[in-house]
Amino acid sequence: MISPWRWLKRRSLAKRPFPAHWEPLVAKHFPFEAQLGAEERARFRRHLFVFANEKHFEGARGLEITDEMRVVVSGAAARLARNLPLGVYDDLVTVLLYTGAWERDGGIIFGEAHRWGLVVLSWDSVRQGLKNPFDGHNVALHEFAHVLDLADGRFDGTPEMESFAALHAWADVFSRHYFSLQEAPGRDKVLRPYGATNEAEFFAVATEAFFEKPRQMKQRHPELYAQLKRYYRANPAALER
Ligand SMILES: [Zn+2]
Repeated sequence: MISPWRWLKRRSLAKRPFPAHWEPLVAKHFPFEAQLGAEERARFRRHLFVFANEKHFEGARGLEITDEMRVVVSGAAARLARNLPLGVYDDLVTVLLYTGAWERDGGIIFGEAHRWGLVVLSWDSVRQGLKNPFDGHNVALHEFAHVLDLADGRFDGTPEMESFAALHAWADVFSRHYFSLQEAPGRDKVLRPYGATNEAEFFAVATEAFFEKPRQMKQRHPELYAQLKRYYRANPAALER
């Protein structure tokens, strides 16, 4: 259930107009928005606005948070969740941005989603993801898919489902596609090989492809597309580029 203070804050946010100086940023970074119907567009904006106002944005190593960063990151979260309830990101508290990448256990990292309400993103990678909007590689979409996955308390590649029947169909389709990617990662033209790492990464990689290569996914993996379409309540393949 939503907390009373959050409810009050959201009610007052709803009365505020979308900031005029954010308009060119939305138009520049989220051109797909122009193709949405009026209602879906309004939901996208509401998600973006609430996210940008409710989450705590922090820059690491002295990075100063700009309006552009706030709009771009919030817009990525809103792009995924535009047709989902406003509360899907309630457990997320802080977005931490780095300029470049960071290292852990000898590996280079560009984004991380944590159980304790934190998402860490490389701003350079976020921008890189926007530069090639159709390559199925987008670190912000990827990490926010992890946040949605975590919303039911488990990091297992299955976000909260509306019913047992939906969960059953999801598990069947996802496991078949996951195992087939594992058998031949690199051969799939739609899903990045990284999706073969584990079920959680598979969901995040499939989400990137669903939003960035929707037509290819619909053509090559129609069942996977249908499951993601049902979960996200969105049909990106129907949008023109
Ligand atoms: Zn990941």
